[in-house]
Amino acid sequence: MKKLPYDETIQCVQCGYCLPACPTYMTMGKETHSPRGRINLVKMAAEGQISLDELQEPLDLCLGCRACEPACPSGVQYGKILEEAREVLHEHKGQSTSKPVKWMQDVMFQKVFPDPKKLRTTADLIWLYQSSGLQKAAQKGKLTKILPENLSAFEEVLPEVSSPSARRKRPAAFQPPAGTAARFKVAFFTGCIMDAMFEKINRLSMELLAMAGCEVHVVGGQTCCGALHAHAGRRDDTVMLAKQNIEAFEQLDADFIVNNAGGCGALLVEYHHLFHGDPVWEERARKFVAKTRDISQVLAQCELPLQHPIDEVVTYQRSCHMSNVQKVVREPLELIKRIPGITFREMANPGQCCGSAGIYNVVNYEESMEILDVKMETMKATKATIIVTTNPGCLLQMKLGVQREGLSREVRTLHLIELLAESAGLSVP
Ligand code: SF4
Ligand code: SF4
Repeated sequence: MKKLPYDETIQCVQCGYCLPACPTYMTMGKETHSPRGRINLVKMAAEGQISLDELQEPLDLCLGCRACEPACPSGVQYGKILEEAREVLHEHKGQSTSKPVKWMQDVMFQKVFPDPKKLRTTADLIWLYQSSGLQKAAQKGKLTKILPENLSAFEEVLPEVSSPSARRKRPAAFQPPAGTAARFKVAFFTGCIMDAMFEKINRLSMELLAMAGCEVHVVGGQTCCGALHAHAGRRDDTVMLAKQNIEAFEQLDADFIVNNAGGCGALLVEYHHLFHGDPVWEERARKFVAKTRDISQVLAQCELPLQHPIDEVVTYQRSCHMSNVQKVVREPLELIKRIPGITFREMANPGQCCGSAGIYNVVNYEESMEILDVKMETMKATKATIIVTTNPGCLLQMKLGVQREGLSREVRTLHLIELLAESAGLSVP
């Protein structure tokens, strides 16, 4: 049996400075749903004072946003405590999970997310559903309301997926404009859901990097980053995916390994943590991490032809994982402000999570909507007509927030790349 991370929990001096930074504490108002309370519970479970079952709900309801880390003056590694405790809970729960549920989970985590072909087939079916008019008919006839509330809500904000032919025709490499020497050689990390459901954003990302003077390559053999697996406590699966990605990206001597999803990037920059004590893989992971960048970090170093003004008020919903783990905050703001015509207005409490957090918003729908409603109040106060995000989960969540507020006609929710592409005059099929 894996061990709970006791040594890290005793670093917490119980001062409570992290409490106001925690969205679940602020909305649920319970000590057990605060960082301090959760750390204390992990410590008590490690000491045998409470059972693992008593730890389950407080940890399940943690977003993993890690807003408590920068707020902590004692440098407590909450992320490490959470992930390791979740591994223990995953192992513990495995013993009591029914066979069909375990089979379903194994299929999703081990056969679907890591397999681009299966994800492409799923995306093709969604494309058919959207392009055949079936989606409109189902929504008009309120057939989607047959689904549970959480699934029906997200069905309505599904992105428009790429057609199978556009997906197949995507080149494996993108070159800078003719006559321009490549500024950086970039290996692009496509992701799993990102490349299935948000392929248009991936395509725009690569086109934009090329336009900015980079030589961009889609490296073969890459797979899902493993973030969803890590958050579910599935360490062995996460390690397997990390090894596959490290091996794949070693094939190309790139300056940067670039991703465009805050949640994926946060795990990619911590791959070396997975191999602690394994000198060979830890070293290989460190080399991978040293090259890993969010796309905004690379674009901010380049010239971009942003010639089309966007005369709108823009606000930015930070990805928690991008700001709290990757520590990337300045570059997206800098890029937004480069676009001519834009009026930028920051939300109050900009670091507050939107409640998306991987599949948290599907699994813990009600709690997630409470957190989202708080976020939407601060968004509305900016009077923005465009919300920019840097993570697919935040993008869907904010779209849902806009819809819940009845603002779908007035407010657009865009990935940073879509906004930059609009100003650069880029579009994809
Ligand atoms: S990770 Fe986020 S939700 Fe979890 S305890 Fe920290 S601040 Fe609260
Ligand atoms: S996690 Fe840090 S900020 Fe929060 S109670 Fe413990 S020591 Fe204080």
